Amino acid sequence: MSTPVFDYAPAPESRAVVDIAPSYGLFIDGSMREPLDGTSFTTLSPSTEEVLSEVAEAGPADVDAAVRAARAAYTDTWSAMPGRERGKYLFRLARLIQERARELAVLETLDNGKPIRETRDVDVPLAAAHFFYHAGWADRLAFAGLGAHPRPYGVAAQVIPWNFPLLMLAWKIAPALAAGNTVVLKPAETTPLTALAFADLCRQADLPPGVVNIVTGAGRTGRLLVEHPGVDKVAFTGSTEVGRQIARAIAGTPKKATLELGGKAANIVFDDAPIDQAIEGIVRGVFFNQGHVCCAGTRLLVQESVADEVVAALKRRLGTLRLGDPMDKNTDIGAINSATQLDRIETMSQIGEDEGATRWSAACTLPERGFWFPPTVFTNVAQTHRIAREEIFGPVLSVLTFRTPDEALAKANNTPFGLSAGVWTEKGSRILWMAQRLRAGVVWANTFNHFDPASPFGGYKESGYGREGGRHGLAAYLVPDESPGVGV
Ligand code: NAD
Repeated sequence: MSTPVFDYAPAPESRAVVDIAPSYGLFIDGSMREPLDGTSFTTLSPSTEEVLSEVAEAGPADVDAAVRAARAAYTDTWSAMPGRERGKYLFRLARLIQERARELAVLETLDNGKPIRETRDVDVPLAAAHFFYHAGWADRLAFAGLGAHPRPYGVAAQVIPWNFPLLMLAWKIAPALAAGNTVVLKPAETTPLTALAFADLCRQADLPPGVVNIVTGAGRTGRLLVEHPGVDKVAFTGSTEVGRQIARAIAGTPKKATLELGGKAANIVFDDAPIDQAIEGIVRGVFFNQGHVCCAGTRLLVQESVADEVVAALKRRLGTLRLGDPMDKNTDIGAINSATQLDRIETMSQIGEDEGATRWSAACTLPERGFWFPPTVFTNVAQTHRIAREEIFGPVLSVLTFRTPDEALAKANNTPFGLSAGVWTEKGSRILWMAQRLRAGVVWANTFNHFDPASPFGGYKESGYGREGGRHGLAAYLVPDESPGVGV
């Protein structure tokens, strides 16, 4: 029996709340500047391919100016400021994100292609929460377990991806500032607009010039930034391949690094799991944000005895998701972020078919313009298939089966990655048994893709090193005070 799908009247969010400039410069030392030696590039709306704006691409002299501004602000102002004063700025930024939440959500949806429901309910509130949380730490660093007087590193170079542009910015900037570092941040080339809006928030908050600098550009700008000799700490979120390049580039220098890289998470469903809830968790795990999620549950491991039931229920549920205009409040699945990413998803899906897996996609009409891919499920997947081993970073799920907990564990851990995992079962003891043995930085039990600023996030193996969030994330921006007799 097919599930009836009701037509929804369109409920578009208004664009009137955002004012996108035809072009943007670089945010250096508290003001927007034309690039010294850079060029420019365009940023598109991935759902319509409309050009949204022309954005500066920072060259070597621009990156140098940004790092120098950050150094001067660190030495003259920020590192000397008492923590409670720094905390006030962070609270101010958090409140400004809340005040301008609608504008930021619309801007993010236009530039990234993700549904307004997600930017409004997830990205922007969580970004504000990160600033609130870290504002609370700014004058309590002595209680971070790093000695009585932990010190900031100095200038942090931060490079972020396009999947959660404002949220990744918050994950980077909030702990760095709370700990007393200054920053130069480079947003991803396909999603620079919310970072540039954040530059405006810094001005509105009267943040001292140079404490936050934002340089836009592509990989070259990122490389110039992380390799700049004036940088003390590198914080990178992105692909494992670029993470490796960065690790090689800074090896042998005194620079500290945290690398948050890719993933291929197992979402494990046992036969005693509440199936309806697990279906919602699977959908949330891999189709949230079009699957552009490093910790997405892209490998569904389902116990053989319930596999047919789970896959049938999942397909029914996917048939009810609405794909289309990301500005519509009813939309569940928005656009793929770029033509390049769409090409990768299409290529990997074709490889899945060629290797013998069975491909199924939800019936939906794809818009004519923009970059789109339907929610897709592969069954008959073997551990050796590339779609079971490599990150696709799109709305594509690979289903594998298992018979025993040992087999589930072995298959889950059989990956070069180690970012996250999910376990669905009624038994608390089994959750603990699995969680202790899964080689993943985050293990969700009977839920998936839940985030909290107080909870550390990060990976093992090719998923990178270091943690973001919580006390562990803060520690990545502090030099411990190892003098005898101190410590909490
Ligand atoms: P990417 O590695 O191509 O780019 C990430 C950022 O690095 C961009 O800003 C890019 O311009 C910059 N960059 C590219 N080459 C560089 C270089 N040589 N030196 C310095 N910077 C450089 O990744 P992407 O395609 O933008 O993002 C998707 C990837 O990010 C996925 O693999 C995903 O798993 C990962 N990711 C990880 C996390 C996490 O927390 N672990 C979170 C989100 C995304």
